[in-house]
Formats: sequence, structure tokens, C-alpha cells
Amino acid sequence: MIEAKKKFGQNFLKDRNILYKIIQAMPHNEFKLIEIGPGLGDLTQELLKVKPLVAYEVDEDLCVYLREKFSKEIEEGSLTLVHTDVLDQFNNGSLQNEPYDLVANLPYYIATTIILKALEDPYCRSMTVMVQKEVAEKFAAVPKTKEFSSLAILAQSIATATLLFDVAPTSFEPQPKVTSSILRIDKKQEFIQDKFLGIFEDEKTLQKFKKYLRCSFQSPRKTWLKNISSEYNREFVEKVMQIHAIPVTIRPHELSVSSHHLLFKHLRLNDARKRDSIHE
Ligand code: SAM
Repeated sequence: MIEAKKKFGQNFLKDRNILYKIIQAMPHNEFKLIEIGPGLGDLTQELLKVKPLVAYEVDEDLCVYLREKFSKEIEEGSLTLVHTDVLDQFNNGSLQNEPYDLVANLPYYIATTIILKALEDPYCRSMTVMVQKEVAEKFAAVPKTKEFSSLAILAQSIATATLLFDVAPTSFEPQPKVTSSILRIDKKQEFIQDKFLGIFEDEKTLQKFKKYLRCSFQSPRKTWLKNISSEYNREFVEKVMQIHAIPVTIRPHELSVSSHHLLFKHLRLNDARKRDSIHE
């Protein structure tokens, strides 16, 4: 009998209906399949009916259990079980060196971090993941709502994010205190493999955009202009806003994803000009 460990965010999904719904919701294509946190292997078993997979599990006790449960699949090579902290794997680069889809009931204590890492992993093509409902709402938020933050803008710059359906605490063992949701994230075509296209022509631009977002939302209740002026020349920013008929009173969550891209592009150009003038 295996006891769930709180420190690893272990809430095992026991509802077969939800397991089938996840299988229906995931992409069915030729890419590699990755699971993070196979736990007791209920989702793993269903995923193996679709195709071979690689699963990353941090808990040694669960790895011992899984090696026994899936001994045949491991021997045949349809399941590759990797005993590791998946964050270490991300920090060493990609989870794979070929395109992959991620399907998982994520440990809630690091769900946001995992999604952000996978978003920036060019080999990750999609995610079909169970997360806390509030986390799913943050990634899938639309402008002018209170959930719309730098997280949604970053995610929706790289991918599309959709909250598919909710899952009640009663579907798990032990039951979590909160409602969960299945979130589906699909990378945009221009942000795949090892190419950063679109507004992020390289890794450096993406890092600059993240800095721009941090600055834009440093005080979410204040105007975007006030926030951004702590980093960029206020006069120049006001001019850009005027050209694009953006009211100076607008707050960061009221600007659409494409408006943020537009403003970022102008500020970056101004940055480049400033740099050029230094060298002139
Ligand atoms: N997939 C199982 C299910 O649906 O019942 C278990 C999901 S449970 C919410 C999260 C799983 O992630 C646990 O098996 C836990 O041990 C594992 N886990 C937690 N932190 C991890 C990490 N840093 N790297 C890899 N796996 C991790």
C-alpha cells in the first residue's frame, strides 16, 4: 500500500471517466509522448494504449512500484521510466531532442513552473495538463479581466491556451482542497523546434519581452504608462501611445496581447536607437 506524499503534490486521479476525457482531449499525432509524474500509473496505462511514452517521476518509492507494474512495457520498450526531478531535466535543456506532446496530472506545487519551462522548450509542441483551476484560468485569461496578467500574455504569445473542463476534488485520492481543470496549450507554428520567429526572433528578445511584462505589471492597478515609465523614457512612450490612439489612462490588463507586442516592438526599437547613439 503506497501512501500519498504531500511534499510531492500527490493526488492520484481515480475517476476513469476523467481519464478517458483526457485521452480524448490530447492530440493524436506522430510526436513523442511525455508524462510528468506517473504516480500510481492510472493515466500512464491509458496513455500506453495510444502510443509509447517517456515518464518522469521524482519519487523513488513510486518508481519501484511502477517498474514492477509496468515490467512488461519497460522490457518491450514502450515505457521509458526516468527517475528524476523534471525541473532538473528542463534546466539541463529539453525533455527530449525531438518534438513531443506533454500529458500530465501535474503536481500543483510546481505546475506553473513546469508549464513555463515547457512553453520555452522549443521541442514541446503541446500540453494537455491537469492543474488547479485558478492556474488554468490565469493561462487562458482574456484581456480586461482580473485574471489577465503577464502569465497569460507570455503564454498566448507563444501558444494558444484553452481551459477544457473542470474536475471535482472527489475524482482524486486523496482529495485536494481545490477544483482542478484540464488546460490545453498548443504552440503556435512560428514558435516551434529551435527557431524563435514572430516577435521573438531570438532567445534574447524573448527574455527582453519577459522583462517588459514584469515592468508593465509591476503595479497592476496603476496605469501601464506609469509602470513602464520606470524603465523607459516617458515622453517617448506617450508619443507612441498617441500615434496608436491608446489612452494614457489604460491599465496593463486592458491592453490586448497584440497591443503589448506592438508597444514592446516600439520600445525595443527606441532602445536600439539609444544604443546606436551611444556608439555614434
Ligand atoms: N499521474 C498520477 C495520477 O494522475 O494519478 C499522479 C499525479 S500527482 C498529482 C503528481 C505526480 O508528480 C506524483 O507522482 C509526484 O510524485 C510527481 N512529481 C512531483 N514532483 C515532481 C518532480 N519535480 N519531477 C517529477 N515528478 C514529480
